[in-house]
Amino acid sequence: MINKILCSGKSTLLETLKVINGNGKGIVFVVNNAKQVQGVLTDGDIRRLLLKGLSLKEKIIKYVNKNFVYALSDQSQEEIISKFNEKIKIIPVVDKTFKFIDYFELKHGIHLPLAQQDLSQKEFEYLTEAFLSTWISSTGKYIELFENKFSDYCECKYGVSTSNGTTALHLALMALGIGQGDEVIVPDLTFAATINAVFYVGATPVIVDVEADSWGIDPVEIERAITPRTKAIIPVHLYGQPCDMDAIMTIAKRNKLFVIEDCAEAHGAMYDRKKVGSFGDIGCFSFFANKIITTGEGGMCTTNSYELNDKMRVLRDHGMNKSKRYWHDVVGYNYRLTNLQAAIGVAQVERIDEILKKREEVEDIYRKTLLDIKFLEFQPNDLAKRKKITWLVCILINGYDRDDYVQILKQKGLDVRPMFYSLSEMPLYKKYSFSNKNSLNLSRRGICLPTHCKMMEIKKEWFSV
Ligand SMILES: *Cc1c(COP(=O)(O)O)cnc(C)c1O
Repeated sequence: MINKILCSGKSTLLETLKVINGNGKGIVFVVNNAKQVQGVLTDGDIRRLLLKGLSLKEKIIKYVNKNFVYALSDQSQEEIISKFNEKIKIIPVVDKTFKFIDYFELKHGIHLPLAQQDLSQKEFEYLTEAFLSTWISSTGKYIELFENKFSDYCECKYGVSTSNGTTALHLALMALGIGQGDEVIVPDLTFAATINAVFYVGATPVIVDVEADSWGIDPVEIERAITPRTKAIIPVHLYGQPCDMDAIMTIAKRNKLFVIEDCAEAHGAMYDRKKVGSFGDIGCFSFFANKIITTGEGGMCTTNSYELNDKMRVLRDHGMNKSKRYWHDVVGYNYRLTNLQAAIGVAQVERIDEILKKREEVEDIYRKTLLDIKFLEFQPNDLAKRKKITWLVCILINGYDRDDYVQILKQKGLDVRPMFYSLSEMPLYKKYSFSNKNSLNLSRRGICLPTHCKMMEIKKEWFSV
C-alpha cells in the first residue's frame, strides 16, 4: 500500500494521476531516490495545473507543494493528531533526514479494532534472520535469548518459554506437584484459562471474589477459603492491575501455599516497584496476539527457583531426561515455543518500554477525552503501591444498560467488548464458587475499549449517547 502513495519527482502528471487514482487517497508524496519526501501533490493540484494548460507529459517535480504538513516518526500520537484539520486528512511520517517512514490518515467512518499488534522492522529482521538460519523449530539462538531477555525484564532468574499462556499455567501447576485432592484458589473475574489449567492437573478450583477497587483477587476472601487441602493461589493481575501482593505473599507463607501469578495481561506492571511475575513461585505470561507484547501464540514461566526451572524444562520437552536422550522419567508434554516465534519475541521485549508508553498514552487520551461523560468510570490507576500498565482500557458503566451501550458503540464502528463473565456465573464452573459479590457487579458493568499503539484519535462524541 505504501508504494502506491509514493511518486518519484521524475514522474509525469499522467503517471501521477494514475497513482492517485489507484490509491484512492487523493494525494501522492513525492520522493527522491533516497526516499526522502520532497513535497506532496493532490488531485486538486493536478486539476488546476491541467486547467492552466500544462501537458500530461510534464514532469511533476517543478510543481510539488514543498510547504507540506508532516510528522516525525518519534512524535507522540497526540502531537501527530494536532496537525490534522478540515483540509489535512493524510500526512507523511518521516525521519530526521526526511526519509519516508509511513503515513497517518484520519478516517471519516471509524473502525477501531479492539487490539492490533505493534510489529516493527525489528521483528521482521529477527524473524527473517531466524527463517534464513533454517532453525525454524524449537531449537535456535532466539529461544534462549528471548527467555533471558524477558526474565531479566521481569527481574527473575529464569524464564521457560512455552507454546502459549495456558500451557505456561499448566506447566507451573505440574512443576509444583499440584494434583488430585488439592485445592487451588482462583479469582472469579479472569479469563477461563486460569481455572481450566487447575482442571488439567486434576485439582479442585476454589473461586473467590475480587476487590471492588483493584478488581484483583481479594486477600480477605483467600483467607476465608483456605482449607487443609489448599495447596496454591493463582492471583491474576487483571487488565494490567497488580494484585495486593504484600497480603497474598503473607497469607501464602503463613499457610505454606504456593503462589502462581497469572501475568497474562500485565507484562511490566509493578507492585511496590517490583515487577509482577517475580513475587510468587512461578509467574505465567501470555504472548497471544492481543496481549501487551506478542509472538503470535506463546507464553513464558518466570521463576527464581533453580529446581522449578529445571522441572519445567523437562516437562515442556516430553519429560525427557536432560542427560540421557529418549529416556523418560516423567510423563511430559510438548509445550515448546519455536525459534521463529522467539525471534519476534526478542524484538518485542527490546521494544516493550516503548510499547507500554504508547499504550499508556492511549489510556491517558481516553481519560482526558471521556472525563465528563458522567456514566463512565475508569479502572483505577492510582492505587497505593500499584503501577498498573495498560492492556485494554476498561470502564464501568453506572446507571445505563451495559449491553445496550456495547451495542451502540459497536454500531459506531468501535470494537468494544464486555468484560469477562465472572466464572461463577457459568454453569460449568458454578459449583466451585466460594464468593462473588464484587466480581458479579464488575463483570456486569465493565467494558473493554479498543486499545493499541496505532490508534490515532478518540472522540468524545463516539461515547456520548
Ligand atoms: C490470555 C490469558 C491467558 C491465556 O493465554 P493464552 O496465551 O491465550 O493461552 C491466561 N490468563 C489470562 C488472565 C489471560 O488473559
